[in-house]
Amino acid sequence: MGSPVVDCRLLSGWGRYPTVESRSVRPEKREGVQSLVEGGSRPMLARGAGRSYGDAALLNGDGDTVLMDRLNRMLSFDSDTGVLRAEAGVRLREILEVFVPRGWFLPVTPGTKEVTLGGAVAFDIHGKNHHRDGGISNFVREIELLTADGKTVTCSPEQNKKLFCATVSGAGLTGIITEVALELRPIETAYVAERTLKADDLGDAFALFEEHEPNYLYSVAWIDCLASGSSMGRSHLMFGRHATPDDLTSKQRQDPLGYEPDHLASLPFDLPEGVLNEHTVKAFNKLYYARQRKRDKRAVVGIDPFFYPLDAIGDWNRMYGESGFVQFQCVLPMEESYDGLKEILAEVQESGLASFLAVLKRMGPPDGGLLTFPMRGYTLALDIPRREGLEDLLLDLHETVARRGGRVYLAKDAYLRPDTFREMYPALEEWLEVKRRIDPENQFTSAQARRLGIEP
Ligand SMILES: Cc1cc2nc3c(=O)[nH]c(=O)nc-3n(C[C@H](O)[C@H](O)[C@H](O)COP(=O)(O)OP(=O)(O)OC[C@H]3O[C@@H](n4cnc5c(N)ncnc54)[C@H](O)[C@@H]3O)c2cc1C
Repeated sequence: MGSPVVDCRLLSGWGRYPTVESRSVRPEKREGVQSLVEGGSRPMLARGAGRSYGDAALLNGDGDTVLMDRLNRMLSFDSDTGVLRAEAGVRLREILEVFVPRGWFLPVTPGTKEVTLGGAVAFDIHGKNHHRDGGISNFVREIELLTADGKTVTCSPEQNKKLFCATVSGAGLTGIITEVALELRPIETAYVAERTLKADDLGDAFALFEEHEPNYLYSVAWIDCLASGSSMGRSHLMFGRHATPDDLTSKQRQDPLGYEPDHLASLPFDLPEGVLNEHTVKAFNKLYYARQRKRDKRAVVGIDPFFYPLDAIGDWNRMYGESGFVQFQCVLPMEESYDGLKEILAEVQESGLASFLAVLKRMGPPDGGLLTFPMRGYTLALDIPRREGLEDLLLDLHETVARRGGRVYLAKDAYLRPDTFREMYPALEEWLEVKRRIDPENQFTSAQARRLGIEP
């Protein structure tokens, strides 16, 4: 089995803030994780690919960060049911590379394929099909969870259901997910039939979402969050469905399931602070909005440009310089969405803290996880560089979101305060009941859990 490698290293999330020095352990096999938990009296936390933005995958102070990336074996696949069983450290990219050419796709995917299965389940990630299918937990048939007593518990929507609901969306705080059985989606081609529409303002964007969503599995909008006045909320909406062979050009039809992942280049250094300021970002957003001349455009595009445009530039997070950035993502109930989003956009604009094009999406009802993020309404995600005034802005935004009955997504967060968090996550007490039963000594914790006061 071999002893896991141990070292001390600086770790951060995708936003590069905060950074903590942490003792890291990298087990090679499941038995290695098991012996760590069995012999462990120190706090610990599983870490996947570190694609959460803030401090959810960080452990500050005393404790071991368990790096899961060596546990990346695919174990079995049933082509009748489409269920893939794999270790939790497998990345979504690896699944795509093996399964797209065989006619299978992920049932739910985030905006990057560089996340692990364990990380995806731990935040019950949502994708552009949330309004139709909900989060990834709806396709998780089973998980193997290593709990604080050193035992492996099988959890599913039928077996140990309460623990399943506390683990999907539980941010690694119920134990270490070692294995996941995930139902994949059959596809006929490796292409997406895409329709892009331009919206002149927020009202227009909402109307277009409502009109076109019933016809498409996927939908999302890139919104220019610096456009103000009568243009506030102007956006590009993108709808998509998996293309059938009939949608393809004769060239594409020669190899309908051919999948060549995009990877152009990595950003080799940090950009100097200040390159992204209100003026450069405003100019970029304007150009981006003007790029598509036609109001309504159709195309058949590959999986990567549709789902993962940002993955084409490796390490794009370095664009924000050494200080890093924060992604603010909130969801507001449907009835609060229009006024609430306008209020949020105005607050961001007033702060002068520039943000690139932001992402707007309509969500379906909450999922089964006790700390589920989604709710029926609109979610807005925007990146903000870490500069003076950021914390004040975020605290104002959090207050606005809470007042309107919405939530902030913990996978992106580094600044939420305990009282606001409790207000936003009303099932916390129910979740804590499971935590007290399964991990009474609070062995599994994180910098985020400590900041938010999450303990049994
Ligand atoms: C460009 C980009 C786009 C994104 N788009 C979306 C999106 O559209 N929708 C969405 O929902 N999210 C999105 N995310 C966020 C991302 O999907 C989540 O943060 C996800 O949890 C990251 O997975 P990871 O493997 O990197 O996990 P990490 O960031 O390493 O960890 C995240 C959490 O999972 C826990 N964890 C990881 N592995 C395990 C394990 N084996 N057992 C138990 N707990 C574990 C960690 O303790 C931590 O709490 C995006 C992130 C990026 C960078």
